[in-house]
Amino acid sequence: MTAKPTSDPRRACLGQLQSDLFLGAKAIHFDPTKLPQRLAPADFSQATAQQKSQALQALQAEVLNCQKCSLAQTRTNAVFGQGNPDARLVFVGEAPGYYEDQQGLPFVGRAGKLLDDILTKGMGLAREDVYICNILKCRPPKNRDPGPAEMACCLGVLEQQLQIISPQVICCLGRIASQCLLQTKSPMRDLRGKWHDYQGTKTMVTYHPAYLLRNPPEKKKSWSDVQKIMAELGLKRPAGR
Ligand code: URA
Repeated sequence: MTAKPTSDPRRACLGQLQSDLFLGAKAIHFDPTKLPQRLAPADFSQATAQQKSQALQALQAEVLNCQKCSLAQTRTNAVFGQGNPDARLVFVGEAPGYYEDQQGLPFVGRAGKLLDDILTKGMGLAREDVYICNILKCRPPKNRDPGPAEMACCLGVLEQQLQIISPQVICCLGRIASQCLLQTKSPMRDLRGKWHDYQGTKTMVTYHPAYLLRNPPEKKKSWSDVQKIMAELGLKRPAGR
């Protein structure tokens, strides 16, 4: 079964915020009136790679100066995303960690090395062939889970990235990315290994590489998810693997 997104993720996030505030939450350093505006849905499906690249650069410039939530005060660098602006496949992770925050690039730590292996050894792709980004663009202190207000602030940027790139397939890495993008509370055991629909784009849910580093036997399941993506994109396993 595919997860059904609510009609407007912003509405869902605002509802969550309002109930948090009603319940007495005091630690939400966030102004709901500053939620990113939904752009008129631009149709980038016919845009050239250069047009997509320019649109992403303009969005990145906004993100690098973003002050919408308190993570702006603790980040070293905002991590916008990296890769082919015209990619057929986009990976969405959770949030930058220590190394990503230091370098301003997604998935460059240990989990990133495993993602690179999945790409090159498993799929026969290079990092430059795909696009890699996260739900949050700034590192939560001590790598804690992203909060609902932080995700609400950042989700509009990811929506625009996906609109611009217009990939054929999205791959959500781990529970937080999957639940946030697909607007569901379903657990990984129900989401993983299945096709979902994100605004008309086929979306696969698989384990986060950091989880696979902690649980190597789960790599088998992850490989079967990756093979579904490869079949969808018509990719063949690299020779000799
Ligand atoms: N984990 C993530 O979810 N994203 C990164 O960029 C790095 C680690």
